[in-house]
Amino acid sequence: MLTHSLTARIHSFQSLGTVDGPGVRAVIFMQGCPLRCVCCHNPDTWDPKGGTPVTVDELLGRIERCRKYFGKHGGVTVSGGEPLLQAEFITALFTALRARGIHTALDTSGCILNDTTKALLRVTDLVLLDYKYTNAEDYRRYTGMEQATADRFLSYLQEQNIPTWLRYVYIPTLNDNDTSLTRLCAVKDAHRCVEKVELLPFRRLCIEKYDRMGIPFPLRDTPEPPPAEIDALKQKFPQLQ
Ligand code: SF4
Repeated sequence: MLTHSLTARIHSFQSLGTVDGPGVRAVIFMQGCPLRCVCCHNPDTWDPKGGTPVTVDELLGRIERCRKYFGKHGGVTVSGGEPLLQAEFITALFTALRARGIHTALDTSGCILNDTTKALLRVTDLVLLDYKYTNAEDYRRYTGMEQATADRFLSYLQEQNIPTWLRYVYIPTLNDNDTSLTRLCAVKDAHRCVEKVELLPFRRLCIEKYDRMGIPFPLRDTPEPPPAEIDALKQKFPQLQ
């Protein structure tokens, strides 16, 4: 099929991921991102001209080779970078995966909602929406994206009844206060499509990557939250997992 020879640029392919969606999954990290989140772990995905070109067929071949590990609940997640930048390609990939009975998940910031990305959402079984802050000023300041844009994307997911998980990177001193978390729970409660909210603790593992690339890491001095703090939060806000 013609669409199978479409080309995209990917950063990497992980064959047995367990943290990006349900079950065991192949995870494809797309190249290119228009945002500049201060907590970004993958600055090496930012450049849309970087990465490696692949075709849909090549990816399907790699996915088929690890399919036996997906079990009942696994499948394929496309992450990034920002997958919506290469939505047409992913639509072709997801269409082919669905035809093979493989579950599709899209990990995105929700930064683009247009006819092309809506077509992609029609073949997406689960959206992992990175919902980063709960007020407009912080959203803009720490990601370069408007909160209203994420909200519009989430409203569309709700309208289309697309199963959604919200992902929130919990960053000490930036978004770790009770007010933010209470608002996050309210966002979940206001959207039927949201099945759960994942609280992801901020990590500093990416510092070396920033150093290698010669880019200053804005959160270099921000501490990682202790596991006990995350556990206590989950007790206090049972909607967060
Ligand atoms: S959207 Fe993701 S890849 Fe892009 S800057 Fe933010 S954290 Fe990094």
